[in-house]
Amino acid sequence: MKTSTVVNAKHFKLLVVGGGAGGLGAASKFARKLPRGSVGIIEPREDHYYQPGFTLVGGGLMTLEANRRKQETLIPKGATWIRDKVQLFTPTQNLVKLRGGDEISYDYMVIAMGIQLRFDMIKGAKEALETPGVCSNYSPFYVEKHYREAMNFKGGNAVFTFPNTPIKCAGAPQKACYITDSILRKRGLLGIESYLKSLEKVAREKDIDIKGAKEALETPGVCSNYSPFYVEKHYRKAMNFKGGNASDLCDQFEEGKLLLEATLVSLEIKKLLFGIESYLKSREKVAREKDIDVRTRRNLIEVDSNNKMATFEFLDEDSKPKGKTEKVEYSLLHIGPPCSAPEALRSSQFADKSGFMDVDWSSLQSKRFPNVFGVGDCMNTPNAKTAAAVSSHLKTIETNLTQAMQGKQPCMEYDGYASCPLVVSTNRVILAEFNSKGAMETTPFDQSKPTYWAYLMKRYFMPMLYWNGLIKGFWNGPATIRNCSRMIRSK
Ligand code: FAD
Repeated sequence: MKTSTVVNAKHFKLLVVGGGAGGLGAASKFARKLPRGSVGIIEPREDHYYQPGFTLVGGGLMTLEANRRKQETLIPKGATWIRDKVQLFTPTQNLVKLRGGDEISYDYMVIAMGIQLRFDMIKGAKEALETPGVCSNYSPFYVEKHYREAMNFKGGNAVFTFPNTPIKCAGAPQKACYITDSILRKRGLLGIESYLKSLEKVAREKDIDIKGAKEALETPGVCSNYSPFYVEKHYRKAMNFKGGNASDLCDQFEEGKLLLEATLVSLEIKKLLFGIESYLKSREKVAREKDIDVRTRRNLIEVDSNNKMATFEFLDEDSKPKGKTEKVEYSLLHIGPPCSAPEALRSSQFADKSGFMDVDWSSLQSKRFPNVFGVGDCMNTPNAKTAAAVSSHLKTIETNLTQAMQGKQPCMEYDGYASCPLVVSTNRVILAEFNSKGAMETTPFDQSKPTYWAYLMKRYFMPMLYWNGLIKGFWNGPATIRNCSRMIRSK
Protein backbone atom coordinates (compact mmCIF):
# COMPACT_ATOMS: atom_id res chain seq x y z
CA MET A 1 0.00 0.00 0.00
CA LYS A 2 1.22 3.46 -0.90
CA THR A 3 1.60 5.76 2.08
CA SER A 4 0.24 9.27 1.95
CA THR A 5 2.72 12.06 1.73
CA VAL A 6 2.32 14.95 4.10
CA VAL A 7 3.69 18.05 2.45
CA ASN A 8 6.80 19.90 3.10
CA ALA A 9 6.68 21.24 -0.44
CA LYS A 10 4.92 24.59 -0.51
CA HIS A 11 4.71 24.97 -4.27
CA PHE A 12 3.28 22.77 -7.00
CA LYS A 13 3.20 23.13 -10.73
CA LEU A 14 -0.38 21.81 -10.54
CA LEU A 15 -2.46 22.01 -7.37
CA VAL A 16 -5.71 20.02 -7.29
CA VAL A 17 -8.27 21.03 -4.65
CA GLY A 18 -10.49 18.07 -3.72
CA GLY A 19 -9.69 14.36 -3.98
CA GLY A 20 -13.14 13.12 -5.02
CA ALA A 21 -14.14 11.79 -8.43
CA GLY A 22 -12.98 14.87 -10.37
CA GLY A 23 -9.90 15.72 -8.31
CA LEU A 24 -8.42 12.23 -8.42
CA GLY A 25 -9.18 11.90 -12.14
CA ALA A 26 -7.45 15.22 -12.92
CA ALA A 27 -4.48 14.51 -10.63
CA SER A 28 -4.01 11.05 -12.20
CA LYS A 29 -3.98 12.44 -15.73
CA PHE A 30 -1.42 15.14 -14.96
CA ALA A 31 0.75 13.07 -12.61
CA ARG A 32 1.45 10.89 -15.68
CA LYS A 33 2.35 13.90 -17.83
CA LEU A 34 4.39 16.02 -15.41
CA PRO A 35 7.62 15.24 -13.54
CA ARG A 36 7.30 13.46 -10.17
CA GLY A 37 6.33 15.78 -7.32
CA SER A 38 4.71 18.38 -9.62
CA VAL A 39 1.13 17.57 -8.61
CA GLY A 40 -0.34 18.22 -5.15
CA ILE A 41 -3.85 17.14 -4.05
CA ILE A 42 -5.55 18.83 -1.10
CA GLU A 43 -8.20 16.53 0.38
CA PRO A 44 -9.24 16.38 4.06
CA ARG A 45 -11.08 13.03 4.09
CA GLU A 46 -9.48 9.71 4.94
CA ASP A 47 -12.25 7.66 3.31
CA HIS A 48 -13.27 7.96 -0.33
CA TYR A 49 -16.77 6.74 -1.27
CA TYR A 50 -18.18 5.73 -4.63
CA GLN A 51 -21.28 7.87 -4.11
CA PRO A 52 -23.36 6.53 -7.04
CA GLY A 53 -23.36 3.23 -5.11
CA PHE A 54 -25.24 4.86 -2.19
CA THR A 55 -28.60 4.31 -3.91
CA LEU A 56 -27.97 0.56 -3.91
CA VAL A 57 -26.69 0.62 -0.32
CA GLY A 58 -29.95 2.33 0.71
CA GLY A 59 -31.85 -0.41 -1.09
CA GLY A 60 -29.91 -3.22 0.60
CA LEU A 61 -28.38 -4.25 -2.76
CA MET A 62 -24.76 -3.39 -1.88
CA THR A 63 -22.83 -2.84 1.33
CA LEU A 64 -21.40 0.55 2.25
CA GLU A 65 -18.04 -1.12 2.72
CA ALA A 66 -18.00 -2.22 -0.94
CA ASN A 67 -18.19 1.47 -1.90
CA ARG A 68 -15.40 2.69 0.36
CA ARG A 69 -11.63 2.90 -0.20
CA LYS A 70 -8.92 4.51 1.90
CA GLN A 71 -7.96 7.80 0.23
CA GLU A 72 -4.25 7.04 0.61
CA THR A 73 -4.58 3.99 -1.65
CA LEU A 74 -6.05 6.15 -4.43
CA ILE A 75 -3.48 8.96 -4.60
CA PRO A 76 -1.78 8.64 -8.00
CA LYS A 77 1.88 7.68 -8.17
CA GLY A 78 4.15 10.71 -8.18
CA ALA A 79 1.50 13.02 -6.68
CA THR A 80 1.50 14.40 -3.14
CA TRP A 81 -1.48 14.20 -0.82
CA ILE A 82 -1.97 17.19 1.44
CA ARG A 83 -4.42 16.00 4.07
CA ASP A 84 -5.99 19.33 4.87
CA LYS A 85 -8.72 21.65 3.71
CA VAL A 86 -8.54 24.88 1.73
CA GLN A 87 -9.81 27.72 3.89
CA LEU A 88 -8.94 30.70 1.72
CA PHE A 89 -8.11 31.23 -1.95
CA THR A 90 -5.86 34.15 -2.90
CA PRO A 91 -5.83 33.80 -6.71
CA THR A 92 -4.13 37.13 -7.33
CA GLN A 93 -1.03 35.58 -5.67
CA ASN A 94 -1.66 31.98 -6.87
CA LEU A 95 -1.92 30.96 -3.24
CA VAL A 96 -4.22 28.89 -1.03
CA LYS A 97 -4.34 28.94 2.75
CA LEU A 98 -5.13 25.68 4.55
CA ARG A 99 -7.15 25.09 7.73
CA GLY A 100 -3.96 23.90 9.42
CA GLY A 101 -2.30 27.25 8.67
CA ASP A 102 0.02 26.21 5.78
CA GLU A 103 0.10 28.22 2.57
CA ILE A 104 0.60 26.51 -0.77
CA SER A 105 1.36 28.23 -4.06
CA TYR A 106 0.80 26.93 -7.57
CA ASP A 107 1.36 27.65 -11.24
CA TYR A 108 -1.90 26.02 -12.30
CA MET A 109 -4.87 24.84 -10.29
CA VAL A 110 -7.85 22.51 -10.77
CA ILE A 111 -10.76 23.12 -8.40
CA ALA A 112 -12.80 19.95 -7.81
CA MET A 113 -14.37 20.55 -4.41
CA GLY A 114 -17.77 19.00 -5.16
CA ILE A 115 -20.96 20.31 -3.59
CA GLN A 116 -21.70 20.75 0.10
CA LEU A 117 -24.64 18.95 1.75
CA ARG A 118 -26.65 21.44 3.81
CA PHE A 119 -28.95 19.53 6.15
CA ASP A 120 -28.51 22.62 8.34
CA MET A 121 -30.77 24.57 5.96
CA ILE A 122 -33.79 22.49 7.14
CA LYS A 123 -34.85 23.27 10.71
CA GLY A 124 -34.54 20.17 12.88
CA ALA A 125 -33.15 17.92 10.10
CA LYS A 126 -29.74 17.25 11.66
CA GLU A 127 -31.35 16.16 14.94
CA ALA A 128 -34.09 14.21 13.12
CA LEU A 129 -31.52 12.14 11.22
CA GLU A 130 -30.54 10.68 14.60
CA THR A 131 -34.13 9.59 15.32
CA PRO A 132 -36.09 6.57 14.01
CA GLY A 133 -37.67 6.91 10.58
CA VAL A 134 -35.41 9.63 9.13
CA CYS A 135 -32.61 8.80 6.69
CA SER A 136 -30.73 10.04 3.61
CA ASN A 137 -28.87 8.22 0.86
CA TYR A 138 -26.75 11.35 0.42
CA SER A 139 -24.72 10.76 3.56
CA PRO A 140 -22.53 7.73 4.32
CA PHE A 141 -23.73 8.10 7.94
CA TYR A 142 -27.44 7.71 7.16
CA VAL A 143 -27.54 5.67 3.94
CA GLU A 144 -27.61 2.24 5.60
CA LYS A 145 -30.42 3.47 7.82
CA HIS A 146 -32.60 3.81 4.70
CA TYR A 147 -32.63 0.04 4.19
CA ARG A 148 -33.22 -0.65 7.88
CA GLU A 149 -36.14 1.78 7.94
CA ALA A 150 -37.69 0.28 4.79
CA MET A 151 -37.39 -3.21 6.28
CA ASN A 152 -38.95 -2.06 9.58
CA PHE A 153 -41.67 0.05 7.97
CA LYS A 154 -45.05 -0.88 9.42
CA GLY A 155 -47.36 1.50 7.57
CA GLY A 156 -48.06 5.22 7.31
CA ASN A 157 -46.50 7.74 4.95
CA ALA A 158 -43.07 7.20 3.41
CA VAL A 159 -42.02 10.65 2.24
CA PHE A 160 -39.14 11.46 -0.14
CA THR A 161 -38.06 15.07 -0.52
CA PHE A 162 -36.26 17.11 -3.17
CA PRO A 163 -34.64 20.44 -2.21
CA ASN A 164 -35.16 23.88 -3.68
CA THR A 165 -31.42 24.22 -4.48
CA PRO A 166 -28.99 22.59 -6.91
CA ILE A 167 -28.28 19.00 -5.89
CA LYS A 168 -25.90 16.28 -7.06
CA CYS A 169 -27.54 13.43 -8.90
CA ALA A 170 -31.01 14.96 -8.91
CA GLY A 171 -32.45 11.51 -9.63
CA ALA A 172 -31.25 10.02 -6.34
CA PRO A 173 -34.27 11.07 -4.17
CA GLN A 174 -36.58 9.43 -6.73
CA LYS A 175 -34.42 6.32 -6.86
CA ALA A 176 -34.73 6.06 -3.07
CA CYS A 177 -38.51 6.26 -3.41
CA TYR A 178 -38.78 3.60 -6.15
CA ILE A 179 -36.45 1.23 -4.33
CA THR A 180 -38.43 1.63 -1.10
CA ASP A 181 -41.59 0.87 -3.06
CA SER A 182 -39.99 -2.39 -4.31
CA ILE A 183 -38.95 -3.35 -0.80
CA LEU A 184 -42.44 -2.67 0.58
CA ARG A 185 -43.99 -4.71 -2.24
CA LYS A 186 -41.63 -7.59 -1.55
CA ARG A 187 -42.64 -7.37 2.10
CA GLY A 188 -46.30 -7.48 1.05
CA LEU A 189 -47.12 -4.01 2.38
CA LEU A 190 -47.93 -2.52 -1.01
CA GLY A 191 -49.58 -3.80 -4.14
CA ILE A 192 -52.20 -6.14 -2.65
CA GLU A 193 -54.78 -4.57 -4.94
CA SER A 194 -52.80 -5.52 -8.00
CA TYR A 195 -52.49 -9.07 -6.68
CA LEU A 196 -56.25 -9.17 -6.34
CA LYS A 197 -56.67 -7.84 -9.86
CA SER A 198 -54.41 -10.64 -11.15
CA LEU A 199 -56.53 -13.09 -9.20
CA GLU A 200 -59.68 -11.74 -10.83
CA LYS A 201 -58.08 -11.91 -14.28
CA VAL A 202 -57.10 -15.56 -13.86
CA ALA A 203 -60.58 -16.29 -12.56
CA ARG A 204 -62.17 -14.63 -15.57
CA GLU A 205 -59.91 -16.47 -17.99
CA LYS A 206 -60.73 -19.78 -16.35
CA ASP A 207 -64.39 -18.82 -16.05
CA ILE A 208 -64.37 -19.34 -12.32
CA ASP A 209 -66.78 -17.52 -10.05
CA ILE A 210 -64.70 -16.18 -7.19
CA LYS A 211 -67.21 -14.32 -5.04
CA GLY A 212 -66.22 -14.42 -1.36
CA ALA A 213 -62.54 -15.05 -2.06
CA LYS A 214 -61.38 -12.36 0.33
CA GLU A 215 -63.02 -13.98 3.34
CA ALA A 216 -62.29 -17.48 2.15
CA LEU A 217 -58.57 -16.75 1.98
CA GLU A 218 -58.66 -16.39 5.77
CA THR A 219 -60.13 -19.88 6.23
CA PRO A 220 -58.35 -23.25 6.23
CA GLY A 221 -57.77 -24.80 2.83
CA VAL A 222 -57.87 -21.63 0.69
CA CYS A 223 -54.66 -20.03 -0.56
CA SER A 224 -53.18 -18.07 -3.47
CA ASN A 225 -49.71 -17.73 -4.90
CA TYR A 226 -50.73 -14.29 -6.12
CA SER A 227 -50.55 -12.76 -2.67
CA PRO A 228 -47.53 -12.60 -0.37
CA PHE A 229 -49.98 -13.14 2.49
CA TYR A 230 -51.32 -16.43 1.20
CA VAL A 231 -48.53 -17.91 -0.90
CA GLU A 232 -46.82 -19.75 1.97
CA LYS A 233 -50.19 -21.10 3.01
CA HIS A 234 -50.30 -22.85 -0.39
CA TYR A 235 -47.27 -24.95 0.50
CA ARG A 236 -48.59 -25.68 4.01
CA LYS A 237 -51.95 -26.77 2.58
CA ALA A 238 -50.32 -28.95 -0.06
CA MET A 239 -48.23 -30.66 2.64
CA ASN A 240 -51.33 -31.21 4.81
CA PHE A 241 -53.62 -32.27 1.97
CA LYS A 242 -55.48 -35.41 2.96
CA GLY A 243 -57.69 -35.91 -0.09
CA GLY A 244 -60.74 -34.26 -1.70
CA ASN A 245 -60.96 -31.58 -4.47
CA ALA A 246 -58.01 -29.15 -4.84
CA SER A 247 -59.34 -26.16 -6.78
CA ASP A 248 -57.26 -23.36 -8.30
CA LEU A 249 -59.42 -20.74 -6.68
CA CYS A 250 -62.22 -20.61 -4.20
CA ASP A 251 -65.73 -20.47 -5.58
CA GLN A 252 -66.98 -17.15 -4.36
CA PHE A 253 -65.74 -13.55 -4.63
CA GLU A 254 -67.09 -10.31 -3.30
CA GLU A 255 -66.09 -6.86 -4.62
CA GLY A 256 -63.80 -5.02 -2.19
CA LYS A 257 -60.25 -4.28 -1.20
CA LEU A 258 -57.91 -5.79 1.29
CA LEU A 259 -56.72 -3.31 3.87
CA LEU A 260 -53.41 -1.87 2.85
CA GLU A 261 -51.00 -1.64 5.71
CA ALA A 262 -48.85 0.94 3.97
CA THR A 263 -51.12 3.71 2.87
CA LEU A 264 -49.06 6.13 0.83
CA VAL A 265 -45.69 6.66 -0.70
CA SER A 266 -45.26 10.28 -1.55
CA LEU A 267 -42.49 11.99 -3.47
CA GLU A 268 -42.07 15.71 -3.07
CA ILE A 269 -40.14 17.19 -5.96
CA LYS A 270 -39.57 20.74 -7.02
CA LYS A 271 -39.93 20.05 -10.70
CA LEU A 272 -40.10 17.07 -12.96
CA LEU A 273 -36.62 15.73 -13.34
CA PHE A 274 -35.55 15.29 -16.90
CA GLY A 275 -36.69 17.77 -19.49
CA ILE A 276 -36.21 15.02 -22.08
CA GLU A 277 -39.56 13.77 -23.28
CA SER A 278 -38.81 10.02 -23.45
CA TYR A 279 -37.26 9.91 -19.95
CA LEU A 280 -40.03 12.09 -18.55
CA LYS A 281 -42.74 9.80 -19.93
CA SER A 282 -40.96 6.70 -18.67
CA ARG A 283 -40.51 8.20 -15.22
CA GLU A 284 -44.14 9.28 -15.07
CA LYS A 285 -45.25 5.79 -16.09
CA VAL A 286 -43.15 4.26 -13.30
CA ALA A 287 -44.65 6.63 -10.71
CA ARG A 288 -48.18 5.91 -12.02
CA GLU A 289 -47.73 2.15 -12.01
CA LYS A 290 -46.37 2.26 -8.51
CA ASP A 291 -49.26 4.49 -7.45
CA ILE A 292 -46.88 7.08 -6.01
CA ASP A 293 -48.46 10.34 -4.89
CA VAL A 294 -46.16 12.83 -6.66
CA ARG A 295 -46.54 16.34 -5.26
CA THR A 296 -44.54 19.12 -6.86
CA ARG A 297 -43.57 22.68 -5.87
CA ARG A 298 -43.07 21.94 -2.19
CA ASN A 299 -39.89 22.45 -0.24
CA LEU A 300 -39.08 20.76 3.07
CA ILE A 301 -38.32 23.47 5.66
CA GLU A 302 -38.74 21.75 9.03
CA VAL A 303 -38.70 18.29 10.58
CA ASP A 304 -40.37 17.79 13.95
CA SER A 305 -39.05 14.38 14.94
CA ASN A 306 -40.98 14.29 18.24
CA ASN A 307 -44.30 14.34 16.39
CA LYS A 308 -42.95 12.79 13.16
CA MET A 309 -44.15 15.75 11.15
CA ALA A 310 -42.49 17.33 8.09
CA THR A 311 -43.34 20.92 7.13
CA PHE A 312 -43.24 21.96 3.47
CA GLU A 313 -43.51 25.47 2.03
CA PHE A 314 -45.35 25.85 -1.28
CA LEU A 315 -43.35 27.28 -4.18
CA ASP A 316 -44.51 29.34 -7.14
CA GLU A 317 -43.54 28.79 -10.80
CA ASP A 318 -40.18 30.51 -10.15
CA SER A 319 -39.51 28.29 -7.13
CA LYS A 320 -40.07 31.22 -4.74
CA PRO A 321 -41.96 30.56 -1.46
CA LYS A 322 -45.67 31.43 -1.69
CA GLY A 323 -45.99 31.99 2.06
CA LYS A 324 -48.21 28.90 2.55
CA THR A 325 -47.11 25.71 4.30
CA GLU A 326 -48.36 22.15 4.69
CA LYS A 327 -47.59 19.55 7.35
CA VAL A 328 -47.20 15.89 6.42
CA GLU A 329 -46.99 13.10 8.96
CA TYR A 330 -44.29 10.54 8.19
CA SER A 331 -43.29 7.07 9.27
CA LEU A 332 -40.29 7.13 6.96
CA LEU A 333 -38.69 10.37 5.77
CA HIS A 334 -35.90 10.30 3.19
CA ILE A 335 -34.26 13.73 2.93
CA GLY A 336 -32.79 14.93 -0.36
CA PRO A 337 -30.64 17.63 1.27
CA PRO A 338 -30.35 21.22 0.11
CA CYS A 339 -26.84 21.81 -1.25
CA SER A 340 -24.56 24.76 -1.89
CA ALA A 341 -21.09 25.40 -3.23
CA PRO A 342 -18.41 24.53 -0.61
CA GLU A 343 -17.79 27.28 1.91
CA ALA A 344 -14.28 28.30 0.85
CA LEU A 345 -15.36 28.51 -2.79
CA ARG A 346 -18.53 30.52 -2.10
CA SER A 347 -16.58 33.36 -0.55
CA SER A 348 -13.76 33.36 -3.13
CA GLN A 349 -13.07 35.39 -6.27
CA PHE A 350 -13.69 32.24 -8.33
CA ALA A 351 -17.41 32.19 -7.48
CA ASP A 352 -20.35 33.72 -9.31
CA LYS A 353 -23.41 35.09 -7.49
CA SER A 354 -24.71 31.59 -6.75
CA GLY A 355 -21.43 30.68 -5.04
CA PHE A 356 -20.44 28.07 -7.65
CA MET A 357 -17.21 28.35 -9.63
CA ASP A 358 -17.67 30.72 -12.54
CA VAL A 359 -16.18 28.98 -15.57
CA ASP A 360 -16.48 29.25 -19.31
CA TRP A 361 -19.08 26.52 -19.98
CA SER A 362 -17.20 25.31 -23.00
CA SER A 363 -13.52 25.28 -21.92
CA LEU A 364 -14.15 24.92 -18.13
CA GLN A 365 -11.53 27.62 -17.54
CA SER A 366 -12.09 30.13 -14.72
CA LYS A 367 -13.53 33.31 -16.22
CA ARG A 368 -11.24 35.52 -14.13
CA PHE A 369 -8.09 33.44 -13.66
CA PRO A 370 -6.95 31.62 -16.83
CA ASN A 371 -4.44 29.37 -14.99
CA VAL A 372 -7.33 27.78 -13.08
CA PHE A 373 -9.83 25.17 -14.35
CA GLY A 374 -12.84 23.51 -12.76
CA VAL A 375 -14.09 19.92 -12.73
CA GLY A 376 -17.25 18.32 -11.31
CA ASP A 377 -20.09 19.48 -9.10
CA CYS A 378 -18.52 22.73 -7.86
CA MET A 379 -18.87 24.54 -11.22
CA ASN A 380 -21.75 26.73 -12.46
CA THR A 381 -22.09 24.71 -15.71
CA PRO A 382 -25.70 23.77 -16.56
CA ASN A 383 -25.14 19.99 -16.67
CA ALA A 384 -26.67 17.54 -14.17
CA LYS A 385 -24.13 17.15 -11.36
CA THR A 386 -23.02 13.53 -11.76
CA ALA A 387 -19.86 11.45 -11.85
CA ALA A 388 -20.73 10.71 -15.48
CA ALA A 389 -20.43 14.42 -16.25
CA VAL A 390 -17.02 14.39 -14.53
CA SER A 391 -15.75 11.97 -17.21
CA SER A 392 -16.46 14.54 -19.93
CA HIS A 393 -15.08 17.39 -17.79
CA LEU A 394 -11.83 15.45 -17.44
CA LYS A 395 -11.55 14.91 -21.17
CA THR A 396 -12.05 18.66 -21.69
CA ILE A 397 -9.53 19.88 -19.16
CA GLU A 398 -6.91 17.31 -20.12
CA THR A 399 -6.57 19.09 -23.46
CA ASN A 400 -7.30 22.63 -22.30
CA LEU A 401 -5.04 22.68 -19.25
CA THR A 402 -2.21 21.10 -21.28
CA GLN A 403 -2.65 23.88 -23.84
CA ALA A 404 -2.70 26.54 -21.13
CA MET A 405 0.57 25.09 -19.79
CA GLN A 406 2.02 25.46 -23.30
CA GLY A 407 0.84 29.08 -23.53
CA LYS A 408 -1.93 28.21 -26.02
CA GLN A 409 -5.65 28.97 -26.01
CA PRO A 410 -7.98 26.13 -24.92
CA CYS A 411 -9.68 24.46 -27.87
CA MET A 412 -11.61 21.48 -26.44
CA GLU A 413 -15.33 22.05 -25.82
CA TYR A 414 -17.30 20.33 -23.06
CA ASP A 415 -20.33 18.68 -24.69
CA GLY A 416 -22.60 19.01 -21.60
CA TYR A 417 -22.82 15.22 -21.16
CA ALA A 418 -24.28 13.79 -17.95
CA SER A 419 -25.98 10.54 -17.05
CA CYS A 420 -28.31 9.38 -14.32
CA PRO A 421 -29.06 5.65 -14.15
CA LEU A 422 -32.56 5.95 -12.69
CA VAL A 423 -33.06 2.91 -10.48
CA VAL A 424 -36.81 2.24 -10.61
CA SER A 425 -36.87 -1.00 -8.61
CA THR A 426 -34.49 -3.48 -7.06
CA ASN A 427 -33.66 -4.87 -10.53
CA ARG A 428 -34.63 -2.35 -13.23
CA VAL A 429 -32.90 0.85 -14.38
CA ILE A 430 -33.66 3.60 -16.92
CA LEU A 431 -30.18 4.42 -18.24
CA ALA A 432 -30.71 8.15 -18.82
CA GLU A 433 -27.85 9.89 -20.69
CA PHE A 434 -28.33 13.47 -21.80
CA ASN A 435 -27.18 17.05 -22.04
CA SER A 436 -29.31 20.20 -21.89
CA LYS A 437 -30.30 19.70 -25.56
CA GLY A 438 -31.55 16.11 -25.39
CA ALA A 439 -30.73 12.42 -24.98
CA MET A 440 -27.13 11.26 -25.63
CA GLU A 441 -27.56 7.50 -25.45
CA THR A 442 -24.47 5.32 -25.74
CA THR A 443 -26.00 1.97 -26.70
CA PRO A 444 -28.04 1.14 -29.81
CA PHE A 445 -31.00 0.16 -27.55
CA ASP A 446 -33.84 2.34 -26.28
CA GLN A 447 -32.49 3.42 -22.87
CA SER A 448 -35.69 5.15 -21.77
CA LYS A 449 -37.24 1.75 -20.93
CA PRO A 450 -36.47 0.27 -17.50
CA THR A 451 -34.36 -2.86 -18.13
CA TYR A 452 -32.48 -5.54 -16.25
CA TRP A 453 -29.33 -5.16 -18.37
CA ALA A 454 -29.15 -1.47 -17.36
CA TYR A 455 -29.48 -2.57 -13.73
CA LEU A 456 -26.54 -4.95 -14.22
CA MET A 457 -24.51 -2.06 -15.71
CA LYS A 458 -25.34 0.10 -12.69
CA ARG A 459 -24.66 -2.63 -10.14
CA TYR A 460 -21.50 -4.21 -11.58
CA PHE A 461 -20.00 -2.35 -14.55
CA MET A 462 -20.15 1.27 -13.38
CA PRO A 463 -18.41 0.78 -10.01
CA MET A 464 -15.61 -1.03 -11.88
CA LEU A 465 -15.38 1.82 -14.39
CA TYR A 466 -15.20 4.34 -11.55
CA TRP A 467 -12.46 2.64 -9.51
CA ASN A 468 -10.34 1.51 -12.47
CA GLY A 469 -11.10 4.14 -15.10
CA LEU A 470 -12.50 7.48 -13.93
CA ILE A 471 -10.47 8.25 -10.82
CA LYS A 472 -7.33 6.86 -12.48
CA GLY A 473 -7.81 9.34 -15.31
CA PHE A 474 -8.36 6.69 -18.00
CA TRP A 475 -12.10 7.13 -18.62
CA ASN A 476 -13.08 10.13 -20.74
CA GLY A 477 -16.77 9.30 -21.12
CA PRO A 478 -18.61 7.25 -23.72
CA ALA A 479 -18.47 9.64 -26.72
CA THR A 480 -16.44 7.22 -28.90
CA ILE A 481 -18.70 4.24 -28.11
CA ARG A 482 -21.75 6.44 -28.76
CA ASN A 483 -20.44 7.37 -32.21
CA CYS A 484 -19.96 3.66 -33.07
CA SER A 485 -23.49 2.81 -31.91
CA ARG A 486 -24.90 5.67 -33.96
CA MET A 487 -23.35 4.06 -37.02
CA ILE A 488 -24.98 0.72 -36.09
CA ARG A 489 -28.35 2.44 -35.52
CA SER A 490 -28.23 4.31 -38.81
CA LYS A 491 -27.52 1.10 -40.80
P1 FAD B 1 -16.85 14.73 -4.99
O1 FAD B 1 -16.62 13.39 -5.58
O2 FAD B 1 -17.95 14.86 -3.99
O3 FAD B 1 -15.48 15.21 -4.35
C1 FAD B 1 -15.29 16.50 -3.80
C2 FAD B 1 -14.12 16.42 -2.82
O4 FAD B 1 -13.71 17.74 -2.46
C3 FAD B 1 -14.51 15.70 -1.53
O5 FAD B 1 -13.69 14.56 -1.34
C4 FAD B 1 -14.33 16.75 -0.45
O6 FAD B 1 -13.82 16.23 0.76
C5 FAD B 1 -13.31 17.71 -1.10
N1 FAD B 1 -13.39 19.07 -0.54
C6 FAD B 1 -14.49 19.78 -0.22
N2 FAD B 1 -14.16 20.98 0.29
C7 FAD B 1 -12.79 21.01 0.29
C8 FAD B 1 -11.84 21.99 0.72
N3 FAD B 1 -12.22 23.16 1.26
N4 FAD B 1 -10.53 21.71 0.55
C9 FAD B 1 -10.14 20.53 0.00
N5 FAD B 1 -10.99 19.58 -0.40
C10 FAD B 1 -12.31 19.82 -0.26
N6 FAD B 1 -23.35 10.24 -10.30
C11 FAD B 1 -23.51 9.47 -11.40
O7 FAD B 1 -22.84 9.68 -12.41
N7 FAD B 1 -24.42 8.46 -11.42
C12 FAD B 1 -25.18 8.16 -10.35
O8 FAD B 1 -25.97 7.22 -10.39
C13 FAD B 1 -25.02 8.94 -9.16
N8 FAD B 1 -25.75 8.67 -8.06
C14 FAD B 1 -25.53 9.38 -6.92
C15 FAD B 1 -26.26 9.05 -5.80
C16 FAD B 1 -26.05 9.72 -4.61
C17 FAD B 1 -26.87 9.36 -3.40
C18 FAD B 1 -25.04 10.72 -4.53
C19 FAD B 1 -24.75 11.41 -3.22
C20 FAD B 1 -24.31 11.06 -5.66
C21 FAD B 1 -24.56 10.41 -6.87
N9 FAD B 1 -23.88 10.75 -8.04
C22 FAD B 1 -24.07 10.00 -9.18
C23 FAD B 1 -23.10 12.01 -8.11
C24 FAD B 1 -21.60 11.84 -8.05
O9 FAD B 1 -21.20 11.10 -6.93
C25 FAD B 1 -20.96 13.22 -8.02
O10 FAD B 1 -21.48 13.99 -9.06
C26 FAD B 1 -19.44 13.14 -8.18
O11 FAD B 1 -18.88 12.48 -7.08
C27 FAD B 1 -18.85 14.54 -8.34
O12 FAD B 1 -17.45 14.53 -8.27
P2 FAD B 1 -16.68 15.78 -7.63
O13 FAD B 1 -15.24 15.47 -7.72
O14 FAD B 1 -17.19 17.04 -8.22
O15 FAD B 1 -17.15 15.79 -6.11
